[in-house]
Amino acid sequence: MGSLCTKCRSIRMILCGNPLSQYLSHKSQIDEAILSVLNKGWYILGEEVKTFEEEFAKYIGVSYGVGVGSGTEALHIALTACGVTSGDEVITVSHTAVATVAAIDLAGARPVLVDIEPDFYTIEPDNLEKAITPKTKAIIPVHLYGQPSNLEPILEVARKYNLRIIEDCAQAHGAMYKGKRVGSLGDISCFSFYPTKNLGAIGDGGMIVTNNSELAQKAKLLREYGWAERYISHISGWNSRLDEIQAAMLRVKLRHLDEDNLKRIHLAKLYENELANTNLILPKHRKNTTHVYHLYVVRSKYRDELQAFLRNKGIVALIHYPVPIHLQPAYEGRISCDNTLSETETASKEILSLPMYPELTDSDVMTVADAIREFNNKGF
Ligand SMILES: *Cc1c(COP(=O)(O)O)cnc(C)c1O
Repeated sequence: MGSLCTKCRSIRMILCGNPLSQYLSHKSQIDEAILSVLNKGWYILGEEVKTFEEEFAKYIGVSYGVGVGSGTEALHIALTACGVTSGDEVITVSHTAVATVAAIDLAGARPVLVDIEPDFYTIEPDNLEKAITPKTKAIIPVHLYGQPSNLEPILEVARKYNLRIIEDCAQAHGAMYKGKRVGSLGDISCFSFYPTKNLGAIGDGGMIVTNNSELAQKAKLLREYGWAERYISHISGWNSRLDEIQAAMLRVKLRHLDEDNLKRIHLAKLYENELANTNLILPKHRKNTTHVYHLYVVRSKYRDELQAFLRNKGIVALIHYPVPIHLQPAYEGRISCDNTLSETETASKEILSLPMYPELTDSDVMTVADAIREFNNKGF
C-alpha cells in the first residue's frame, strides 16, 4: 500500500499556480453565469460588463470602473487618458512583468526605470526625485507579488512635481495600504484578470478604476474607437473591450475574492512557520498593509539548484522574473536607467516563486517545505 501512495504522490504535480482548481472550486456558479450569457445573445460590453464595472469599483472603493481587454491595455489606456504621449517620460521599475514597460512603450513614451526596495521588491521612493526630468509625466508603482508599494512617499513626490500616479495593481486585487485598497490611492489604476491573477478570468481581461470622472470618460472613449455614441469617434481610440462571458464569471469570482485572498494569507503563514529554520530569505510584509500573496517569493543563493531539486520532486517553482526589463533584448539600451539597478539585478538571480494559489492544501505546503529542508540538509 505504501508504494501505491508513493506512486500517487510522484504522479501528482504541485503547480506554482492553478487556474483549473479555481474554476472547479466555483464551477456550478461559473457554469451558470456563462450559460446565461450564451443564451442572452449580447456578447461584448453589455449588462454583465456594466454591472461588473460597478461592483469592482465599489469593492476597490472608487467611483468608476472601465472594463478593457487586458492588464496591458488597461495601462496603455490609462497612460493615454492621462495625456502621456511621445516625448514624455514615465517612471517605473525594471523588476516587474514586462507588460508594465510594454504599455509605456505602446503609449509612445520613454520608460525610465528605477531600483526597488530589496525587502519588498517594490519601487524605492528615494530613487524617484533623481529620475524626474521636465519630460516626466507619470509614475507607475507596481504592487508586485501582492505587496502594496510604499504609496505615501510616492504620492508626496507626485504632488510636489505635479505627476500622475498610475497604480499597476495586476498582482494585488484586494491588497490594502493603510486601510485602503490599492487602486484607490493613485489618480488612475489598472488591473489584469489574466487567469492566474488573484481575480482571474478564463481568458484575457482588465479593468481601469479611478475617482476622476474625466479620466474615466476618456478611458471609455479610448477602449472603443473614441466613440461617445455608436459610430462617431470623438477622439482617436482603438479596440480593447471586455466581453460578457469574462465579466459574468469575474462577478462570481469577485464574491469569493476576499475569502480566496485569506486562503493565500493562511498558506503564506504556514510557509513562514515551516521555512523559518531554513536558510531561505522569506517574504517580508510591509507594516500597515495587507499582502495578498499573488506569489510567494523566497530568495536563495542556490536558486537554480533549488528549483531543479523541487522540479525533480514534482514541485513547480517559477521565477518572476528571471531577466530585468532593462537587460531584455527588446529594451536594452533603449530605456533610461540612471542608477545601476543593483537591487533589481541581484534579486533576479535569487528569487523563486513557490506554489501559491487558494486551493493549494496545507499538506501540499508541508510537502514543499519538507523538500526544501531536505535540500538544505544537503549542504545548500
Ligand atoms: C499580469 C501583469 C500585467 C499585464 O496584464 P495582462 O492582462 O497579462 O496584459 C501588468 N503588470 C503586472 C505587474 C502584471 O503582473
